[in-house]
Amino acid sequence: MRTTAIMMTTALTIGVVGCATNPVTGRRELSLISESQEIQMGREASQGDLKRVGETNRVDAQAMVRRIGQQISSKSERPNLPWEFHLLDDAAVNAFAYPGGFIFVTRGLLTHLNSEAELAEVIGHEIGHVTAKHTVASMSKQQVAQIGLAAGSVLSPQVAKYGDLLGTGASLLFLKFGRDDETQADALGFRYSLAQGYDVREAPKVFKTLSRLAGESGARIPEWQSTHPDPGNRVQVAEKKVAALPPGSLTNAKVNREAFLKTVDGMVFGENPRLGYFKGTRFLHPDLRFQLDFPNGWKSVNMPEAVVSQSSDNAAQLQLIPGQGTPTQAVQQFVGQQGITVRQSGQTTINGLPAVFAQFDAQAQDGTLKGIAAGVQYQNTTYLLVGIMSAVGAVQHTNAIDNAIRSFRALTDAASLNVQPAVVQLVTLPETMTAQTFVQRYPSSVPAAQIYVINGAEATTSFPRGAILKRVIGGVSP
Ligand SMILES: [Zn+2]
Repeated sequence: MRTTAIMMTTALTIGVVGCATNPVTGRRELSLISESQEIQMGREASQGDLKRVGETNRVDAQAMVRRIGQQISSKSERPNLPWEFHLLDDAAVNAFAYPGGFIFVTRGLLTHLNSEAELAEVIGHEIGHVTAKHTVASMSKQQVAQIGLAAGSVLSPQVAKYGDLLGTGASLLFLKFGRDDETQADALGFRYSLAQGYDVREAPKVFKTLSRLAGESGARIPEWQSTHPDPGNRVQVAEKKVAALPPGSLTNAKVNREAFLKTVDGMVFGENPRLGYFKGTRFLHPDLRFQLDFPNGWKSVNMPEAVVSQSSDNAAQLQLIPGQGTPTQAVQQFVGQQGITVRQSGQTTINGLPAVFAQFDAQAQDGTLKGIAAGVQYQNTTYLLVGIMSAVGAVQHTNAIDNAIRSFRALTDAASLNVQPAVVQLVTLPETMTAQTFVQRYPSSVPAAQIYVINGAEATTSFPRGAILKRVIGGVSP
């Protein structure tokens, strides 16, 4: 979804072809995008994310991200870009760069790092994607594909934009870099953080942590992996670079472990259940005080602007999105889109709440889709529920979608309404101990394996007396 804003902008810039010098490589290369267009695209995409996801309320952590970012970017090959650095309130472990100098790191990433030097490495890496114009290069290539997509633009963006979401993180495909780009960004991140006096011995640790996450069972799509394909042996490459440094290069190098950890103390860990969470197939939203039962066996995700659920045969999908205006207006707006024909519509109530529904056909490239749209009014908000099925899927899934829509109701269970997110809590060790002893003495609400990862440790890693480690407390019990 992050891609939507960019796709629209790029569609307008097709045909502008120029040749520009790459600031990092010094080579002249084909560019379809001027610097001002690059900035405009990045800014639009960035504002979209800020609006949808928002920044964390942790002012100290934000200030740290900005400070490191400004420090590195002001000494980079492109110091005059309107650099911005944001800490998103997102559980995903991720960092990404939009063209023009708009850099994002997530609170999920911060809770997985252990020093300012590690963070500098990540921010430096993202800055590297911008200074070496990687995003722009991949966008230029993507534009060719975009022309085809736009012309054949099927149904509504409502349908298209969530289409691949449950797959392999394909919604971020647009910003995916190549392995060569990753290698170069790693090298730039290393060089930038070294130049700023950071201890680059922390660099391999970052890559180790991120690669361990990919193997974590039950983890969400490993976002960093999906947008930053591993160029292979990235840990060893970083270790080799450290070994090749002249003796004494790191004598007074900064790690800033404690100061960093203090900024993640109390930070929300993982998904924030206040913004909606699943218990089995039931979706509960404490802040908005409603619940909904998605069909059994479907895969579901909760995102800032929608909850999307998809059948295991991929023949049916149900979305819950905020509706505009009254239920009638919201449904009309949806079915008023090109290619949609209403078969039947009417008013109803869903668990006592006023609702409007419409059954429709939608013309898609490969045939007609069947659908149901329902607008429900609850506590001065309109919710739009849209089920879409292939013709074959409709036979099997119409009832499931219907039942799911009809399960929308007020959330009244006090325990669910009062649920609080899990948070990071720092512990200063009273004596030397292994990570394994640590998790036994200071229990967490997440599995031990996860505690090892967020502390950059193995079970057998020994920590001295006075060392500060992270544990995780509270949250929704599984
Ligand atoms: Zn990267």
